[in-house]
This record gives sequence, structure tokens and C-alpha cells, in this order.
Amino acid sequence: MLGKGLLKGMGITFKHTFEKKDLVVQYPEQMPRLQERYRGSLGFRFEKCIACGMCTRTCPNRVLSMETAQVEGSKKKKLLSYTIDLQYCMFCNLCIEACPANALYFSHDFELSKYNRSDIAVVYHRPPEMDGEGGDK
Ligand code: SF4
Ligand code: SF4
Repeated sequence: MLGKGLLKGMGITFKHTFEKKDLVVQYPEQMPRLQERYRGSLGFRFEKCIACGMCTRTCPNRVLSMETAQVEGSKKKKLLSYTIDLQYCMFCNLCIEACPANALYFSHDFELSKYNRSDIAVVYHRPPEMDGEGGDK
């Protein structure tokens, strides 16, 4: 019958129109309920990073950069600072997949707007306690 598909579609729409669902929230008074795997701001765990550089090589948009130094008397490198320039991030997950140390993650923070462009980049500096006894990582 002509229009059968249309009627069926309208029936489904009609049925869902009166369903009670929390689809609309009064943001910012009310915060949305986010899915567990929601990709908000990219987070970084400094103490987990082994300064391997896999993430910076993997990122297609050059969002990530790091400053490293050679550990005295060793071939190892230590991380001095880590920068995430979030304005170019497309939340593709490639860096997280590439990281062997689980140092990167997506947080649920979605309020990422800044007044100045220069404030968008997040810089993590080496915590002084990491250079204590046996802390050269
Ligand atoms: S999520 Fe994608 S674009 Fe964003 S920093 Fe990671 S690799 Fe780069
Ligand atoms: S891939 Fe992970 S461990 Fe390696 S430099 Fe990046 S954040 Fe650090």
C-alpha cells in the first residue's frame, strides 16, 4: 500500500513522543548524565608516563608535545613537562591506544571553552616529589 512505510514511521514517532525520558536537561543548572565512555577533555597521569613518545608520534594533529631530559648515568629519559593543546584534538583515541603505560585518558569534563586561545593548552610540569630518592622515572 502506498504510504505504508510513512504511516509506520509516524506511528513510531507518535509512540516515542509521549515517552517520559530525561532527554532535555536545564544546563548549566542541571548537568547531563554522561555515558561511561564519553570522550571529554584529555587527561594525563604524569607519574605513569615513561616518556616513550609513542603518543606524540601517533597523534595526527600534533596536539601532544613533551620535554624530556636524560637521566644521569643512565640511558633512560625522564619527563620534564607534557603539553596537551586541546584546541586541535579531534578525540580520536589514537594516543590512548598507543600509550603502553595507561598515562592518557578521556575525562568527563566537557566544559572546555576558554576566553583566550593561549589558555586552551594544558601544561603538566614534573612534580618535585618525583625527583626524590629513587624517583627518577
Ligand atoms: S585524541 Fe587523537 S587528536 Fe586528540 S591528542 Fe589523541 S591522537 Fe591526538
Ligand atoms: S605514550 Fe604514554 S607513556 Fe609514552 S610518552 Fe605518551 S603518555 Fe607517556
